[in-house]
Amino acid sequence: MIQITMPLGFLGTVYREIRQSLTDMGEMFDLLHQPAEIQDAPDAKPLAVSGGRIEFDDVAFGYDAARPILRGFSLTVEPGQKVALVGPSGAGKSTIGRLLFRFYDVTGGAVRIDGQDLRAITQDSLHAAIGIVPQDTVLFNDTIRYNIAYGRDDATQDEIEAAARAARIHDFVMSLPEGYDTTVGERGLKLSGGEKQRVGIARTLLKNPPILLLDEATSALDTQTERDIQVSLKAMGKGRTVLTIAHRLSTIVDADLIVVMEQGRIVEQGRHEALLAQGGRYAAMWARQSAEEDVA
Ligand code: ADP
Ligand code: MG
Repeated sequence: MIQITMPLGFLGTVYREIRQSLTDMGEMFDLLHQPAEIQDAPDAKPLAVSGGRIEFDDVAFGYDAARPILRGFSLTVEPGQKVALVGPSGAGKSTIGRLLFRFYDVTGGAVRIDGQDLRAITQDSLHAAIGIVPQDTVLFNDTIRYNIAYGRDDATQDEIEAAARAARIHDFVMSLPEGYDTTVGERGLKLSGGEKQRVGIARTLLKNPPILLLDEATSALDTQTERDIQVSLKAMGKGRTVLTIAHRLSTIVDADLIVVMEQGRIVEQGRHEALLAQGGRYAAMWARQSAEEDVA
């Protein structure tokens, strides 16, 4: 009995964790709408990362043939660059994320990382190279140490603490009587939304992916928590290629490049100040959000 229920319970937890963390990314990885399984090519090779250059090269894509979503979409993110995708709902921002994770294959053009077509590399190696931080990290009913080290069984205490420091959760952990041995989750200490997300950030830092994909679902967090998390996210981005799907423009004013999408196309791109000066769609979005934030 125990032999059967334990593994099943564990799988249930893992499944919930995966489903939760995936769906929380602004429905980016909704397993309930999984596409037909993408298979590794017979001669697929592991991705060899040399900096994390992302390239969408003349990409065409549609969820069904009758309705193209992307046409001639080209975007290059240089190693270490921070690029933000913005635009109205339905513009195709999350689709870009799904294609980068190869949940679907493009129907024209190519997506490459460091020059390697995603269709030629193994999915395991692709997924290992990309870190995603869900909006609402779901914790295992286990210690904080376990929750941070999840997926990196070999991590040392020093590595765990370094990740926790960078995610700005270490001091909080040390303030608990049992420190890293504190049990959290449903049956342990309940962490706030911001604390949970920092644990998620520490977990991602420990995984140390060269590429980060952030889909900022409109956050229910209070302004101070959101600000703190932005600080942690920024720290996490150091030395990595970061593609952010942004909803709040105030969080991406420092981006190296802001790409404005509409109906599957890039309609404007540039840095924040240049786009404001241009007085186009981005400037209008900025004016609208600033007014809303003033009201709030
Ligand atoms: P955004 O993230 O910018 O809001 P999406 O990339 O999610 O936009 O969606 C782009 C377009 O693709 C929308 O018209 C949306 O309805 C459509 N779409 C998204 N996901 C699916 C899906 N799984 N099946 C069919 N159409 C989809
Ligand atoms: Mg989206």
